[in-house]
Amino acid sequence: MPVRKADTLFPIVEASHNLKSLADEVHRTYFYKYPPLPVQWGQQISRKKRRSIRLGSYNHRTTEVRIHPMLNSPNVPAFFIQSVIHHEYLHHVLGAPHNRRFHQHERTFRYFRESQEWIRGNLAFLLGRRKNELRVPGATPVATEVKPPQPVQVSLF
Ligand SMILES: [Zn+2]
Repeated sequence: MPVRKADTLFPIVEASHNLKSLADEVHRTYFYKYPPLPVQWGQQISRKKRRSIRLGSYNHRTTEVRIHPMLNSPNVPAFFIQSVIHHEYLHHVLGAPHNRRFHQHERTFRYFRESQEWIRGNLAFLLGRRKNELRVPGATPVATEVKPPQPVQVSLF
């Protein structure tokens, strides 16, 4: 793969998304009737393999939105981070339960379907289980989807 020019000019150590501009766009597009919420990366706690991951959270007391710092990676598309921000904004507007109304609103996010597909294909990566770790060298890959050895749970937000 060719090296992008920007990478050679500005080597990125902890490659970062600009969370503020991603959040601003979500606010501008979907929630402009409400004041913008503070959106921040959460704290990185551990790099160990995990069985569950909470990708985002909304604190109804402080109205703060936290996004899991693991998503601050060039491997994660911007639209996926925005789908998490959109989800947390919906908690601000609609309340806590993931009820039918909530899911209906969730689908108004432009890349809802793409985001669902992305998390399906990248759950192993997010949980610290890279797909190629599970492959036997030389063996013909039989399945495109990797089933984690233990049941895992994504707190989709
Ligand atoms: Zn939620």
